[in-house]
Amino acid sequence: MKLHIESPLIESRPLSLLVQRNVWLKLDALQPSGSFKIRGIGTACEAYARQGKRRFISSSGGNAGMAVAYAGRCLNIPVTVVVPQTTTERAKALIARENAEVIVHGASWQEANALAQSMLSDDAAFLHPFDDPLLWAGHASLVDEVAAAGMKPGAVVLSVGGGGLLAGVVQGLRRNGWHDVPVIAMETRGADSLSQSLRAGHRITLDAITSLATSLGAKQVCQEAFDLARSHPVHSVVVEDIAALNACERFLDDHRILVEPACGASLAAVYEQIPQLAEVDEILVVVCGGATATLDQIRQWAARPDIKAA
Ligand SMILES: *Cc1c(COP(=O)(O)O)cnc(C)c1O
Repeated sequence: MKLHIESPLIESRPLSLLVQRNVWLKLDALQPSGSFKIRGIGTACEAYARQGKRRFISSSGGNAGMAVAYAGRCLNIPVTVVVPQTTTERAKALIARENAEVIVHGASWQEANALAQSMLSDDAAFLHPFDDPLLWAGHASLVDEVAAAGMKPGAVVLSVGGGGLLAGVVQGLRRNGWHDVPVIAMETRGADSLSQSLRAGHRITLDAITSLATSLGAKQVCQEAFDLARSHPVHSVVVEDIAALNACERFLDDHRILVEPACGASLAAVYEQIPQLAEVDEILVVVCGGATATLDQIRQWAARPDIKAA
């Protein structure tokens, strides 16, 4: 049983006309949990279920927590998600809607995560949002589907938080023999842990996340993503929050799909016509999705003077 769907791969007419080259969209915004995360988390949850685990625990109030909750409901395994007090009502409701238990604890993610870790026992599995080989193997299925459709991209554009998606996509490219297909790794300023690490030559830890794209808000990328970013052709690009927000609004007009700013960062690569894509034909954008944003929220953010001025 697969918990994710084979997502649609379409050629975007509006984006192709905009950049005068073919732009393809892998529409993981349409996954049942609202984002690509169910690919890897579904794969991991199934593996842990086979190992005899009887409870899943997560400390993500975002799309990872939603994917664990969805997977648990499908597999008939109880799920507990511990989230900090800063988690929005909407995010908590989306997780609870999948019948998961939501525990609110602590002022920050660190405290919520500490409680989640203390709840682990022999028959419970902790689902990390990005740092788990099972996750990467599951995310790689996205590339398998593109290959099976007979489409070889000139470059893959994707968003980077903790780097799980990046690690999975690079693994997918390699297992399909596409060692030469570059990846454009998009981050927003204030959540640019990969970009700063590549510049420093080692994995840095951000002091704080100052971007609105909270789903990209990992203070440090996982080692696997950092290593792959240095051994595979990966181009790291940082955009301002306002570019990601504008991309969300334009994408809603163009394709009638609402995504989070975390995904808007990837779409901004095309809407802002970044130079790294200037020579690329057959651009593939991973539309990673995200269920936590609303149109009202995106418009409010985009109207903030400090955001607009960036
Ligand atoms: C988790 C997430 C990301 C970042 O994925 P990582 O594997 O953490 O790099 C990007 N976009 C959305 C919508 C996400 O949920």
